[in-house]
Amino acid sequence: MSGGAEKSSSPEDWMAEASLELLARYDVAGPRYTSYPTAPCFSADFTAADYLDELKRIGQAASCPPLSLYFHLPFCGSVCFFCACNVAFTTDHRRPDRYLDRMIREMDAVLSVWTARRLVKQMHWGGGTPTFFSPDQMSRLYEAVAERFSIQIGAEVALEVDPRQTSREQLRLLGRLGFNRISVGIQDFDPRVQAAVRRVQSEDLTRKIIDEARAEGFKSVSVDLIYGLPFQEEASFARTLDRVLTLSPDRVAVFNFAYLPGSVRRQKAVPREGLPSPSEKLRLLQRAIRTFAGAGFRYIGMDHFARPGDELCVAQDRGTLGRNFQGYTSHAGCELLAFGASSISQAGGVYAQNQRDVRDYERVVDAGGVPTMRGIRLSAEDELRRDVIMRLMCHLCLEKKAVEQRHGICFDTHFADALDALAPMERDGMVRCRRDRLEVTPLGRLFIRNLCLPFDAYFRRPAKGGFSRTV
Ligand code: SF4
Repeated sequence: MSGGAEKSSSPEDWMAEASLELLARYDVAGPRYTSYPTAPCFSADFTAADYLDELKRIGQAASCPPLSLYFHLPFCGSVCFFCACNVAFTTDHRRPDRYLDRMIREMDAVLSVWTARRLVKQMHWGGGTPTFFSPDQMSRLYEAVAERFSIQIGAEVALEVDPRQTSREQLRLLGRLGFNRISVGIQDFDPRVQAAVRRVQSEDLTRKIIDEARAEGFKSVSVDLIYGLPFQEEASFARTLDRVLTLSPDRVAVFNFAYLPGSVRRQKAVPREGLPSPSEKLRLLQRAIRTFAGAGFRYIGMDHFARPGDELCVAQDRGTLGRNFQGYTSHAGCELLAFGASSISQAGGVYAQNQRDVRDYERVVDAGGVPTMRGIRLSAEDELRRDVIMRLMCHLCLEKKAVEQRHGICFDTHFADALDALAPMERDGMVRCRRDRLEVTPLGRLFIRNLCLPFDAYFRRPAKGGFSRTV
């Protein structure tokens, strides 16, 4: 079997190797590694006091790293059946006002541990539907952030938009405030697929919102697609992909539909009989890879494509690409402070997740607390394994000596079991286990989660939360 980590390898070559037989053997439930340890490993024993202690420690360091901020805006006006996000459905457009009050109080409670204003290099508003917020509500949140942090000139400021719930007035305001990236949910343009998942959104509307965002100064547009939805077929998905290219996105995410009706109740409404088979799903993914690679995009790694020159490609080339709860990031050196229900902060040596339920979140904040629900303090072993997993996920290559120097271990001895577990994957052409390095082959990019699993010390135990399929 051929392979090679070289980025120029033709997608035709390596996708031909992704046989159904291979897919069947490696299609297990596994984490997406937006964190390590993953969220199901977080513990309720980790409290708000633990989180604040870590922030204090960071604040006392001679050079506090810059920040990345995430705000979770959970409201949506209607249900999309495929969605596994933490959302609150409402038609009451005053509801965000009360939530905003709480997010501002949460910021104050968290920032009480620091005396100095901190520099923000990146901010992301996700949801839910951030554009469910009115222009006044958006202004209020932005101003509250700007009063409490120093937002760097030229910072990457992004939000997720639902074209069905976005106005020109909102885009104009956001552009004026300094937002420069939007992420647009599309999923699929096929009307039958849209009807089946109750996400009816025309191509014209999507194009109009993207054009308006560019006219208002947004310099980067990402679009999100999903493969594996009911009634998706290769031919119609190919039409969607071609239409997406005409929107000239800078980044594209093509997510594997995580069908988990046992834990995501609204997915019970997804017509199960319409779901594509594993072989059809593989063809959908291959079609997406072929289309975007053929159009000059680079397959960054799990689910994500970016144009050469995009900051994600530059960061990958420089070895500075990172991964967090929003996916890949070019700001890996930042501490991530997250606000709002269910959001997860990653600061120093801890992860801290807020109360998931909006009412629980608001109740804790009203009582004057920081709404941490659970979290984890990483051990030295966790830090080591996070380093290995993130290097594989982000850089598709790992230099053993660099890991040994950073963590004071002998790689081959410490990870003898993991290297044994990689041996069959090496025979299948997914990875090259060299004396001095591990290299993910182009084929291995499709199976990157499988390649990380042997380094995950927690995965050997039964997972609590239920993960999506790895392929
Ligand atoms: S996909 Fe977006 S709009 Fe639809 S329910 Fe999920 S968060 Fe809300």
